[in-house]
Amino acid sequence: MADTSLNPYVRAQQSFKEAVETLGLEPAVYEILKQPMRTFEVAVPFIRDDGNLQVFTGYRVQHNDALGPTKGGLRFHPNVNLDEVKALAMWMTVKCALLELPYGGGKGGIACDVDQLSEREIERLSREYIRAINLVIGPDKDIPAPDVSTNPQIMAWMVDEYSRIRGENTFGLITGKPLVIGGSRGRVEATGRGLVFATRQLAKELGIEFEKARVAVQGFGNVGSVAAAISHELGATVVAVSDKDGGLYNAGGINIPDLLEYKRTHRALKGYPKAEPISNQELLELPVDILFPAALENQITADNAKNIRAKIVGEGANGPTTPEADAILFDKGVMVVPDVLGNAGGVTVSYFEWVQNQTRFYWSEEEVNHRLEEYMSRAMAEMHRMHERYGVTLRKAAYLVATERVASAMRVRGWLK
Ligand code: GLU
Repeated sequence: MADTSLNPYVRAQQSFKEAVETLGLEPAVYEILKQPMRTFEVAVPFIRDDGNLQVFTGYRVQHNDALGPTKGGLRFHPNVNLDEVKALAMWMTVKCALLELPYGGGKGGIACDVDQLSEREIERLSREYIRAINLVIGPDKDIPAPDVSTNPQIMAWMVDEYSRIRGENTFGLITGKPLVIGGSRGRVEATGRGLVFATRQLAKELGIEFEKARVAVQGFGNVGSVAAAISHELGATVVAVSDKDGGLYNAGGINIPDLLEYKRTHRALKGYPKAEPISNQELLELPVDILFPAALENQITADNAKNIRAKIVGEGANGPTTPEADAILFDKGVMVVPDVLGNAGGVTVSYFEWVQNQTRFYWSEEEVNHRLEEYMSRAMAEMHRMHERYGVTLRKAAYLVATERVASAMRVRGWLK
């Protein structure tokens, strides 16, 4: 169990340390990257619907801004704590550098349970959070976005609050906004779509034809359902999908648009007549070419990694593969598209959104998707080169690409001496 219980902050530090050592970089690179540049912990007082005042704790962490203003989501969740936010900010540094976005890594959140709050309460809380951190964020400083339990509506309240405080419309403050106030076309589907683009690129490099691949998708939320739909659209055979209630399997392939229609009317996958039920565990072990774990963390573990039969695992979820399982898959020759690339489509289209806000010129969905493919494929190809050069997992290769890039920026800016 040692692998999964490790503090995520310590894990992120170790990954940077390993990368600095492997690349033979100056020790100063690790000294700077091992902790965030700035950490804010703020009290967020707000009035409940019953008139009482309650104070929640909010965070915003800016890990490193060598490549540009810091960028990263905001999560509302009872488990949000400083070490987790620090680790997530460090992962954003890796994601942004890997994708060649002109950003550093940031992350924030509020320790709260949104299920216990009314819509009006969530609005007041979101506005108060922005009041608490407004001096340290901004389109050229630190640009938040949605994450766990936050959404475009919350981004809209936040950008509105900031714009009121500043006395000017500042749409470039935050990304993941509704379309009508400067959101980007394609942002909602970006994570699932990016996952497929990155995986297709890897398949190409391995000589696997994505268009002929058999695919299984665990999770049918925003990432999984889009990954299934795009895979189907590109001609792959999606043989299995699942949600938290279990999975569906059809060796001949599932017609995803038809399944989406079924889900719209029945509000569940369960009972879909053109496939057989299977469990989430069985889905992971199916004889497929590509497996997309796009649900929860710690799904592929030391216990089941040896049974994985996919050639490629494309991580849509955060941390679906434990470090022990990672090593087992590597020894078996199963390639893993790590989460830092697999779910980086979201922040990539966030970058496109910010560019559109700053230039006031809005792109078509085709243009967004086309550029997303370009960014994901380029990052994948570079990681693959690092993987071949150093003989490490793609996950480690992601840290090598990102750390090298951040280090070059710090070096040329004169931070390392
Ligand atoms: N929260 C998402 C992530 O972790 C998106 C961040 C963003 O769009 O800035 O990548």
